[in-house]
Amino acid sequence: MSGVQLEVLFTPGDIDSAVARLAREIRKDYRSKNPVLLGVLKGCFVFMADLVRALDIPLEIEFMSLSSYGQGRIESSGKIQVIQGLRRSVRGRHVVVVEDIVDTGITGDFVLRYLRRRRPASVRVCALFDKGARRRVDVPIDYLGLSVPDRFVVGYGLDYDERFRYLSGLYCLKEDG
Ligand code: 5GP
Ligand code: MG
Repeated sequence: MSGVQLEVLFTPGDIDSAVARLAREIRKDYRSKNPVLLGVLKGCFVFMADLVRALDIPLEIEFMSLSSYGQGRIESSGKIQVIQGLRRSVRGRHVVVVEDIVDTGITGDFVLRYLRRRRPASVRVCALFDKGARRRVDVPIDYLGLSVPDRFVVGYGLDYDERFRYLSGLYCLKEDG
């Protein structure tokens, strides 16, 4: 494929270990709470699938789909549109928001506000990757997998123009020239 090279940041083994650790932490806190794991599409789908199997406790899953008006504008304006919201009530439920990566924090902040209006019993955030250097809105990450540098990353569900989601590791993008 022309024009794009990848550089390994985390191997599949690194990611497996991080997911296993997160599952241990979450299991300890939610074992008997039948939590709702709420994934923000699309990037979370691989992480969600591995996390729920590693958790191995009773739980339910839900997904939301959000869109921005283009990457540049989401960052400057914070304009987020709900494409598919929650289809079921989370009132009185313990919700864990599952994010692939927290970057500016705009998405996570939006989801937390959206959820709190729906009166869950509790809300926590689990993020596999954290690009802390770019944070613009504070998002409390209760369960954090791995920190990443201020680089565009792909793999393990994360895409570059819909490419590379299938990769089992995490990679930095290096553009030629
Ligand atoms: P935020 O709202 O925190 O800036 O990031 C929201 C979304 O942007 C993430 O859920 C993710 O889908 C996408 N994103 C942020 N940084 C990266 C990155 O380095 N690579 C990819 N593929 N997506 C990213
Ligand atoms: Mg994307």
